[in-house]
Amino acid sequence: MSVVTRFAPSPTGYLHVGGARTALYSWLYAKSQGGEFVLRIEDTDIERSTEEAKQAILDGMQWLGLSWDKGPYLQTERFDRYKTFINQLLDEGKAYKCFMTSEELDQIREEQKARGEKPRYPGTWRDRTDHPKGEPYAIRFKNPLEGTVVIHDHIRGKIEISNTELDDLVIQRSDGTPTYNFCVVVDDWDMGITHVVRGEDHINNTPRQINILEALGAPVPHYAHVSMILGDDGKKLSKRHGAVSVMQYRDDGFLPQAVLNYLVRLGWAHGDQEIFSLSEMIEYFNLDAIGQSASAFNTDKLIWLNQHYMKTMPVSEVATFAKWHFEEQDIGLNNGPTLENVVAIQADRVKTLKEMAQISRYFYEDFTEFDEKAAKKHLRPVAKEPLIEVSKKLMAIETWSPENIQAAINATAEDLGVGMGKIGMPLRVAATGGGNSPSLDVTLNLLSKQKVEQRIDKAVSFISNRENS
Ligand code: GLU
Repeated sequence: MSVVTRFAPSPTGYLHVGGARTALYSWLYAKSQGGEFVLRIEDTDIERSTEEAKQAILDGMQWLGLSWDKGPYLQTERFDRYKTFINQLLDEGKAYKCFMTSEELDQIREEQKARGEKPRYPGTWRDRTDHPKGEPYAIRFKNPLEGTVVIHDHIRGKIEISNTELDDLVIQRSDGTPTYNFCVVVDDWDMGITHVVRGEDHINNTPRQINILEALGAPVPHYAHVSMILGDDGKKLSKRHGAVSVMQYRDDGFLPQAVLNYLVRLGWAHGDQEIFSLSEMIEYFNLDAIGQSASAFNTDKLIWLNQHYMKTMPVSEVATFAKWHFEEQDIGLNNGPTLENVVAIQADRVKTLKEMAQISRYFYEDFTEFDEKAAKKHLRPVAKEPLIEVSKKLMAIETWSPENIQAAINATAEDLGVGMGKIGMPLRVAATGGGNSPSLDVTLNLLSKQKVEQRIDKAVSFISNRENS
């Protein structure tokens, strides 16, 4: 059997981390089995579905690299298809017209509740033939009256539900539109889905869907219902916990690789391994190793993974993702070193790509002012002579390289008979505007000889002005 999985989001909001993890598990399972992954947009709830949300979900999937082999299918484009099967069930006597008005139904429910019973449709029109002419009706599925539905869930094990627990589900509303559970069934069948991986909030739908599949003569797929994600305080993950939208993680400066690695471990394990390349995830992933209990989100771990990937991924790849952040922060990249070179020396100094862009502006733009604290401490009159001297030696360098830059700094310290500290920090503040940067040899090397000269001049003038004021 060739495996086909699907991700079937409703386009009512952005792609959140729970959905992204479900999508990842579904995608990984397809990949691990050499199968196919289908994307289906479940937009039958026209009131709540938006084009914007659909696009946000596609963007999230693309950013994560979860490409789909088929789709995106839209349920709203398949209404004719659902209609065909509803008619088939009607013809075969497996579904029936129900003329009960909503007032009648409400009343029955009230009475059931008053008796302490679970509200359910009592099957009133199941076998009636005295259909009133011209009255609106819904179509209900004839759920079996006896027996049980057994689900062999890959995560939760065997689940058995008695058919007496299930009432006759509306599959077509009185306005003629098909209902959600019915569309899912037809789609899963039509799209050849062999494994349904979805959130545990859908587990109550599963026995109903299985009964409909069987009535249609369709094969029943495997199921894996994934647990919830909780915030680090043990409560259901929500906006209170910070980012819940996948794209927010991009905006916050995370690499998709880190997010994927984070999500795969949130509920799935392979021994005690924490770091997984995509090919390792595909190789080791299986549905049976997904845990049953809810997983708690841990931002520190995500940051740890992000740092790992920023440091270990090919620099050019990190630079591709970093570029977006430099552009977001309006840092023009034309006048300065290549982004690869900046990534190479900044990657181990930051938690996120956003932060990387924030601390790298001086490579591309002249700053108008020195950081106040750093200047106060390091651009003092005593620093003037070392700065003038080091500038002379730096400007005399023929081949601008980290080694030659270091040699010039060392020679200045030696000539002036001062410690490195007396030169290094003033030079750092002069060249970068602040007190934090990678080591001076590589920083100045990337800045260019010309920029270093101008900036030291500026620092010297700054000190002179300070002396005179
Ligand atoms: N459309 C459903 C949701 O977004 C998923 C249904 C399913 O996976 O079967 O929650």
